[in-house]
Amino acid sequence: DAAIKMEVFEKVREAGVKFIRLQFSDIFGLLKNVAIPVEQLDKALDGELMFDGSSIHGFTRIEESDMYLRPDPKTFVIFPWRPREGAVARLICDIYNPDGTPFEGCSRHIMKKTLAEAKELGYTMNVGPELEFFMFHVDEEGRPTLETHDRAGYFDMAPVDLGENARRDMVLTLEDMGFEVEASHHEVAPGQHEIDFKYSDALDIADKIMTFKFVVRTVAQRHGLHATFMPKPIFGINGSGMHMNQSLFKDDQNAFYDPSGPNALSETAYYYIAGLVKHARALAAITNPTVNSYKRLVPGYEAPVYIAWSCRNRSPLIRVPAKRGLSTRVELRNPDPSCNPYLAISVALKAGLDGIKNKLQHPAACDRNIYHMNAAERLENNIPSLPGSLREALDELAADPVIKSALGNHIFDRFMESKLVEWDNYRVQVHNWEVEEYLTKF
Ligand code: GLN
Ligand code: MG
Ligand code: MG
Ligand code: MG
Repeated sequence: DAAIKMEVFEKVREAGVKFIRLQFSDIFGLLKNVAIPVEQLDKALDGELMFDGSSIHGFTRIEESDMYLRPDPKTFVIFPWRPREGAVARLICDIYNPDGTPFEGCSRHIMKKTLAEAKELGYTMNVGPELEFFMFHVDEEGRPTLETHDRAGYFDMAPVDLGENARRDMVLTLEDMGFEVEASHHEVAPGQHEIDFKYSDALDIADKIMTFKFVVRTVAQRHGLHATFMPKPIFGINGSGMHMNQSLFKDDQNAFYDPSGPNALSETAYYYIAGLVKHARALAAITNPTVNSYKRLVPGYEAPVYIAWSCRNRSPLIRVPAKRGLSTRVELRNPDPSCNPYLAISVALKAGLDGIKNKLQHPAACDRNIYHMNAAERLENNIPSLPGSLREALDELAADPVIKSALGNHIFDRFMESKLVEWDNYRVQVHNWEVEEYLTKF
């Protein structure tokens, strides 16, 4: 650890860094940060910097508001878009209580707990996320609109599109910050894009997802565009997902791969899938945490609706891509980029571990297109649906002790409390659709 600290100081000196941003996530996955002058770095790295946690949504009550930030030196990176003179760097932090214990409202800490549980069984987790987002134009006042001038579709080339330039800049910036970008392409909907980066260990990926969203939005802004990770900004076209490819490793071996198993998958892989299937409805509250998330999870837009798995087709919730060997993985397709990545990865892992520990039986693979089945056929094939609303998902979460335990009481209570308010605020609104449907009818 002392060696990594030295490295940080080395880089700071080389690049002439003047300011450090200490970053952390609130329980909803929103990035928070405190800027400190570089002279404070030593103190910061020793975890001696305090902040007022009571002003962070979902953290603490006023009377217990002193929190300490403990930066993870491995997360040090210089912002490439800042001037060379007076460079700015960031560190991602864990949050600690004044008595030196980890803060239970710190989702990065909560994630480490589930990772440790996996480690006890000998597993490390790898994740490869696929984030989709829209880029929209801003109006004269700089406010985001829902307009995009691009008419491109999946993998299209649009040489004069502003979005393409912005996306290229995003990829270059991400690479400057240590991302290994594997693919970047236009998505199905106009104005929609996807950038995929190389899988890595789960904690690193959760940090990277936070950084990714921040970089994408920052670069878009510099191109006069607004990037959004809202799951379903426009009715009638695809929404934005964040597919989560996941695998467990044991001593450098992919624990999901077994050349002699059915579909060349191991027992562990099947238990993991069974765990995801069992807890899918409760997971949704965390992987799809907004009212808007459930507008995406409807038939017709390449987003999952039904709880099933397959090695072949893409319509189910869980897909096992064809790659084997070290790349063997399970792709969970319902998460969307409005989730807190620390919590979303934690609950998926928790579900999978439950499958492994209790040797849960996976349902038969569903190799038909589920969207061509009617309700009776789905019932016959034992294929339930994901929750249809945030409210339904919250009820499922509250009723699932395994997934609840992955969050811990602090986060579970604050999350439920706040999300129920969010649901109620939505519920009491009179929406456009209702006015159009009923105003003249009654
Ligand atoms: N945008 C789709 C979703 O909402 C996914 C499309 C794709 O990557 N094939 O999940
Ligand atoms: Mg993809
Ligand atoms: Mg995609
Ligand atoms: Mg995918």
